[in-house]
Amino acid sequence: MEEKVFNQDEIELLELLEFVLCYHAKAAFTDEAKLKEGDTVRKECEVLKNQIIETANTRYESHQELLEKKKIRLKDYYDEGCTYCGFYSSFQPNGEAEGDYGFRFYTFRCAKCGKDFLGQLPVDDHDTIVWHDIFLKEISKKDKRGNFTSKKFNVTQEKIDTMIEHFNFFKEKVLICDRNEKVHNDFLIAYNLDVTKQLLNLREIKKKITGEIIIEDIN
Ligand SMILES: [Zn+2]
Repeated sequence: MEEKVFNQDEIELLELLEFVLCYHAKAAFTDEAKLKEGDTVRKECEVLKNQIIETANTRYESHQELLEKKKIRLKDYYDEGCTYCGFYSSFQPNGEAEGDYGFRFYTFRCAKCGKDFLGQLPVDDHDTIVWHDIFLKEISKKDKRGNFTSKKFNVTQEKIDTMIEHFNFFKEKVLICDRNEKVHNDFLIAYNLDVTKQLLNLREIKKKITGEIIIEDIN
């Protein structure tokens, strides 16, 4: 289903605002007080209308950007080593599958042996943080004599330090994104509440105006 810029509440609110704006633009008020009131309402309606259009568009664009990012990640090349034959190269993902700790990993088809293997890192950045924590703890283990016990990797303290440095940099980037997302989501929660409030308010105003028009028509 194609995503829409405006949700149902926004569509109704924009229609109500249009109605009120039209009414005040057409209404030829004779008395000064009503003319002034109409001016104020018009200005408020314009501000609200612009705010809704701007927020809905920003929300839509950031969601599209997110989808685009996911698509790009699937088209990207990753430096991976085939877990079957050890062939090391740059691969494009050909799918996703569950791997260690239940995380999702990209799958790659080895150009040498033709088998599909799982990538090194989970697809999701938060899973990658957990994965790194476990991985770094595992490879940092030492025996009683102070030698690294990992059989899978040839580790040195220097290599581990570099990995920790890269990992912290990555983690910080993810946390900054999380913080920005939270600010954005909090803003949207407050905005949605405001839209609901304005909707109730505008429905009442429309009712009042429609009542006035009917009375005027009768007269
Ligand atoms: Zn292979």
